[in-house]
Amino acid sequence: MNKVNLLSELQSIYGAQCQICNRVGANTFISLIPLQVIRYARNLNKRKNRRHKRKLPEIANYQINNLLPVCNQCQVKQFNSDIYKLISLHQLEVIDKQRQKHGYPELLAAGNIRTLHRLLINKDNHI
Ligand SMILES: [Zn+2]
Repeated sequence: MNKVNLLSELQSIYGAQCQICNRVGANTFISLIPLQVIRYARNLNKRKNRRHKRKLPEIANYQINNLLPVCNQCQVKQFNSDIYKLISLHQLEVIDKQRQKHGYPELLAAGNIRTLHRLLINKDNHI
């Protein structure tokens, strides 16, 4: 799926507004689990290294339940930062209402990036 299709798919789930500031329309999206974290987990798993026997969670770069539609300005702010520090509690609740409808792991129930990452790899994992 290309990025334009992904954005319209995300807007059909969350609505047209930016899901961080909720003031303007979303014209791009962010990864809830930052791409660098996803890549780091993938690379660690590739190394056949005794220190890292345990597999880390792996998810696809553009896995739909890891994406959130936002405006350009909020996308810049989110770069390298924790969504739990960036998104207001009220807005997290709004987002979770939609995630619940779609059976996606809920952000507040996960509580942190690490747990959310783990929940996103297992679709059958109900909180
Ligand atoms: Zn915004």
